[in-house]
Amino acid sequence: MKLGIVIPCYNEEEGLGETSRRLQVLLDEMIQTGEIDKESFVCYVDDGSKDGTWQLIEQFQKESPYFKGIKLSRNFGHQNALIAGLMQLKDTADALISMDADLQDDINVVREFVQKYKEGYDVVYGVREDRSKDTKFKRGTAEFFYTFQHFMGIETIHNHADYRLLSRKALDALAQFKEVDLFLRGIVPLLGFRSCSVYYTRAERFAGETKYPLKKMIFFALDGIASFSIMPLRLITMVGFILFMFSLLAIFWIAIEKLFFDSTVQGWASTMISIYLIGGIQIMSLGIIGEYVGRNFQQSKARPRYIIDKEI
Ligand code: UDP
Ligand code: MG
Repeated sequence: MKLGIVIPCYNEEEGLGETSRRLQVLLDEMIQTGEIDKESFVCYVDDGSKDGTWQLIEQFQKESPYFKGIKLSRNFGHQNALIAGLMQLKDTADALISMDADLQDDINVVREFVQKYKEGYDVVYGVREDRSKDTKFKRGTAEFFYTFQHFMGIETIHNHADYRLLSRKALDALAQFKEVDLFLRGIVPLLGFRSCSVYYTRAERFAGETKYPLKKMIFFALDGIASFSIMPLRLITMVGFILFMFSLLAIFWIAIEKLFFDSTVQGWASTMISIYLIGGIQIMSLGIIGEYVGRNFQQSKARPRYIIDKEI
């Protein structure tokens, strides 16, 4: 089978040399053992890096037949860079594996991916068995994120990021998803097909630092929820309904107080509390609705998810 490995890179010049060296060794071995065809390749997608990442990619491409490169016109973000690579290359290989540039995901698992593909699986998820090498903070936030997503009714594979194999059939199906707020690990389970997981231990970042600072992580998590679930909107409706029921009871109670006991002068505290409470809930609800309206706005413009500058 002809295998392609797609790697989005954003300012990865420090680690890319080592990544390429190891991948080259891996491909050499796998070609020798006949696991993959000799036309198999690695394609780097340069996501508008500001350092020498693209120069490095050009150099690898010249020196070895395995390496290809796609340069995006600017930084589009990890998910968009990934879809750019997958969509550009899906017709050139039997299956594509996506991975990060930083060697955090054990590249030896590629063998198992290929094995599973040959057994007839169209989607193979790489699942981190042990995240003890990730920072505590990263693990904590990730755990919170998974739990919250699950609560919102979004099906994702636990501890699976974007290390996975997709067959050409699965990639063709993926091409039909036109959404702008891309959250691949939510979409892939929706493709269907035969799928399975392979397990590995997540390593530390090999070089450079994370390209996902807290702010990006939060927005990514929000994307993951708002582009997959209308649960927040339903929650608003539910809260509104409960409050409405309460106010009916309150009206009833107030009327009785007024008619039979005539003691309604007090009540400053409860008035103030309800003003703030209702005000807060209203503003928050507006925000949540705005989030979805905004998404509609972006989707309706249907801007391209990525723009390619060069391919080598
Ligand atoms: N990345 C990208 N564009 C971005 C941010 C990140 O292409 O805007 C790439 C990055 O080069 C890496 C992968 O996405 O190959 C995952 O990023 P990183 O390893 O920093 O994320 P983490 O593992 O810390 O979640
Ligand atoms: Mg990483």
